[in-house]
Amino acid sequence: MKIYVIGIGPGNQEYMTPQARSAIEKSDVVVGYTLYVELVRELTEGKEVKSTAMKQEVDRCRMALESALEGKTVAFVCSGDAGVYGMAGVMAEVAEDHPEVEIEVVPGITAACSGAAVLGAPLIHDFAVISLSDLLTPWELIEKRLSLAAEADFVICLYNPKSKKRHDYIDKAAEIISRSRSWDTPCGYVKNIGRDEEKGVVCTLKELAGNDDIDMFTTVFIGNSSTKMINGKMVTPRGYRNIR
Ligand code: SAH
Repeated sequence: MKIYVIGIGPGNQEYMTPQARSAIEKSDVVVGYTLYVELVRELTEGKEVKSTAMKQEVDRCRMALESALEGKTVAFVCSGDAGVYGMAGVMAEVAEDHPEVEIEVVPGITAACSGAAVLGAPLIHDFAVISLSDLLTPWELIEKRLSLAAEADFVICLYNPKSKKRHDYIDKAAEIISRSRSWDTPCGYVKNIGRDEEKGVVCTLKELAGNDDIDMFTTVFIGNSSTKMINGKMVTPRGYRNIR
């Protein structure tokens, strides 16, 4: 009666920790969004696989719980880290009335970290992670977080920057941030981290607004007031004191 909620990292198996791999290997059943189950296919041979479409998150948790209650060991796979806009919390809530089911969270590399590595070293100092998805958070609160994080000079990392319905949210976010940061601020975005067609782009805040290249498989980075470009890489100094 055990559910591993596993962060498999951003892409192919090179990004997966040995702990995540071994948890999948120890499981009888693998549950997850179709794409993520596909990414770990080599490890799922001979196992029962249950996958669902993107939005059926609670259904996926229920499926995992049902299998665990049958006495099986379940691997519930999430992209990146299972606890960052992932399913670890939802799983705990769904299984609340079944304390006999052990839930173990296995961490993974979140897109902020794997994407940062592609661009250079944009995070380094204090940073804020904000999702632009208003499916579960009111847009007014997202605006407030953007505004205050910009004012406090955090490097800002944006998840869920776009979807079919939310095509101009990144423009709105850039505009809000520009109220307390220069339009020339070094920024960047990375698409399909760790997957085929991975693409990292460095640009300015101005170039983020109205950018058509950014999609739902993209993570966006906005530098703070001291972030700079060094040999084509986006780099935030460790603090505000010059080291040279
Ligand atoms: N649990 C995941 C995040 C899920 S939210 C994690 O820790 O990384 C989904 C958002 O994460 C996407 O809209 C995108 O902004 C980001 N993301 C996840 N995987 C990504 C990848 N391989 N490449 C680029 N962005 C990714």
